[in-house]
Amino acid sequence: MRKNHYHEEMLSVEDARKKILENFSILSTEKKLLLDSLGQILAENIIAKFPIPPLDNSAMDGYAVVSSDTIDATNNQPSKLKVIGSVPAGSVPTKKIKSGQSMRIMTGAPIPKGADAVIPFEETDEKTRNNLDYIGCNSEVKKGDNIRLSGEDVLKGEEILSSGVLIKDAHVGVIASLGKSKINVIKKPVISIISTGDEILEPGEKIKPGKIYNSNAYSIASMVTSNGGIPNIIGTASDSEESLNMLLDMAYNSDLIVTSAGVSKGDYDVVKDVLFKRGKIKLWSVRMRPAKPLAFGVLDINGKSIPHLGLPGNPVSAMIAFEQFGIPAIKVMLGKKDILKSSFKIIIDDEIINYDNRRVYARAIVFKGEDGKLHAKLTGNQSSGVLTSMSKANALAICTEDREKINIGEEINAIFLDDIDDLFF
Ligand code: AMP
Ligand code: MG
Repeated sequence: MRKNHYHEEMLSVEDARKKILENFSILSTEKKLLLDSLGQILAENIIAKFPIPPLDNSAMDGYAVVSSDTIDATNNQPSKLKVIGSVPAGSVPTKKIKSGQSMRIMTGAPIPKGADAVIPFEETDEKTRNNLDYIGCNSEVKKGDNIRLSGEDVLKGEEILSSGVLIKDAHVGVIASLGKSKINVIKKPVISIISTGDEILEPGEKIKPGKIYNSNAYSIASMVTSNGGIPNIIGTASDSEESLNMLLDMAYNSDLIVTSAGVSKGDYDVVKDVLFKRGKIKLWSVRMRPAKPLAFGVLDINGKSIPHLGLPGNPVSAMIAFEQFGIPAIKVMLGKKDILKSSFKIIIDDEIINYDNRRVYARAIVFKGEDGKLHAKLTGNQSSGVLTSMSKANALAICTEDREKINIGEEINAIFLDDIDDLFF
């Protein structure tokens, strides 16, 4: 006998997501080492305190010259210039060049005063001459040739990056080039993961009759990591309120608590009962397959209100529910602008059957067909317990609520599970 009666209103995926995301907002900022900030949102404006490059410098290995000295120079009639010194990279030239003079210079080294161009080694007779007190220029260079001007990349005082930018590889490089080793970013959310069920063993433990290995904690933790959150696997509660409450108490330091299993109508589905007793339930049930039983609420953990997403236990349902509701919540907390994945049109090469007006997320392999278009085949048994249907898939093909069946050859929407660039591997 169920102790509590819950009003079960089945929400659409969109309404459920909206109800869930209302409970999340962008996290506060933290100062991080530059190299550790990749993929996070910048929380300060990056202003250049000096120009880049800081000084006019050579773009080539060669000789710094006065360009007018090289007018009409050719192989047969080289312009002969006195070499008064050399400027290695990292040093600052102390001498000034006058007409008739030059200085040997390396790429990146500052241009000596008086010089207005660099002639590359290849255009001089350096290789063939014995006396390197002088150099012959075999061609003409124009004012500014092979000189990178100060500030050509970045001007002093320029705003290089603005708060809100998603930090990518080149941003890390640009910030490093300004000499900064730490920056302010939006914190990564900590997602506590609690599994439930008397049947659950941990990988590494000895298999026992009637038991199964915990896969949900592992797939969900991986999804958290690949989407920029910090997973915190707390452990597995047995099917008792006491055990679950104990683990929940350990999750006080998190931005979201995710549980798996215990939200359907079985005798031992304690997640519902606990959510009912120590929190505010916001929703129970979503018009989707898999993952119809889904709990969301706000739990009171030692006086702190922490959102709780109760995923179904079936491994495919858990992942798809987390994909639809957990990852968008992580993105909101990270301060990302694109919360939802875009969908793509594909031609379906298998039927999708929808017998109860839910939105079906069918596990599919998208590939490029001979017609050059994107096609998708289903990954076999679509039961929500068959996790390999997920591991074989690179996309979810969507059958909308209003369709009873999608026929072979129809064009429908799909969302990719992989990065676009990894799709066809
Ligand atoms: P439940 O929601 O407790 O009825 O669980 C639904 C199904 O998911 C059952 O077959 C469970 O054995 C399975 N299940 C529950 N938790 C996990 C888990 N952490 N990893 C893999 N399967 C699970
Ligand atoms: Mg169970």
